[in-house]
Amino acid sequence: MLTDMQIAVIGGDARQLEVVRKLTELDAKLFLVGFEQLDHAFTGAVKEKLEDINFTELDAVILPVRGTDSTGKVETIFSSEDVFLTESMINDTPKDCVFYSGISNDYLDRLFKEANRKLVLLFERDDVAIYNSIPTVEGAIMMAIQHTDFTIHGSDVAVLGLGRVGMSVARSFQALGAKVKVGARKSEDIARITEMAIIPFHLNDLASEMKNVDICINTIPFPIITADVLANMPVHTLIIDLASKPGGTDFRFAEKRGIKALLAPSLPGIVAPKTAGQILANALGVLIQGEFLKRKGKKL
Ligand code: NAP
Repeated sequence: MLTDMQIAVIGGDARQLEVVRKLTELDAKLFLVGFEQLDHAFTGAVKEKLEDINFTELDAVILPVRGTDSTGKVETIFSSEDVFLTESMINDTPKDCVFYSGISNDYLDRLFKEANRKLVLLFERDDVAIYNSIPTVEGAIMMAIQHTDFTIHGSDVAVLGLGRVGMSVARSFQALGAKVKVGARKSEDIARITEMAIIPFHLNDLASEMKNVDICINTIPFPIITADVLANMPVHTLIIDLASKPGGTDFRFAEKRGIKALLAPSLPGIVAPKTAGQILANALGVLIQGEFLKRKGKKL
């Protein structure tokens, strides 16, 4: 339980409601910033304005999945007021206050380096990233259905990257009856793709491998679908770029060639906010309890 812990939840979308639910169940005392338009009330959680938060008494601060933007602005879909996370707020927290976010950016990296506080990035954890790949794949399937006039079954699908998302994408499209091939650069990934009974190819051969592809799903956060690669794709190919912004596709050249290329960020929050929120809530519950017990000198 998190009795006596004081936690600020600053901003976020519907996923954050699952986090609030979980942490109130664990008996933490929550301060919700950027939630004044939310009708629902949670026992043990009070809605506050940022300026009314006493940062000196906080044990943890939970930011939205994207953290902040490059100016420190926090996304608050349940509020009309702008909320900014500043250096002085971080400096006001006790030294052992832990901050949690999905991902980081240059702004947060700089702030936390200078403030000497711990920032935990949930999506850097394998467990969270693998669980989160499930709603991501469902979103990719939804997009493939919405943006093509042919079935996934029987179509030629190329998946780029065999990371946590790429593996789930490849497996799911294969299970739907697509003819899947996966591009990777490591020999162990080529071996794993082969073991999965999927056709492997080396990313060095990416351009030539694109000749008969109906759907190309990119998970590599690097400019990988270049003009050369696009020049080899049929015009009917649908590109679903799952890699974090700005994606891995030369979108300008794709448009010039008449190839439909879609950058598809934050699919879990779009297709399954409840599940995506529960994934974060479960991870946060374990992490914050671990931190709490560590302070009390106990093992989880
Ligand atoms: P991951 O496990 O780190 O996998 C990334 C993959 O990209 C690996 O196969 C990696 O290969 C490959 N890669 C990285 N840089 C490369 C380069 N320069 N050249 C060739 N291959 C390269 O990441 P993940 O968890 O699968 O996530 C993949 C991307 O999807 C990330 O950008 C993530 O933010 C994003 N994402 C998007 C959504 C959404 O809703 N759209 C949801 C979840 C995640 P190596 O192992 O050889 O480096």
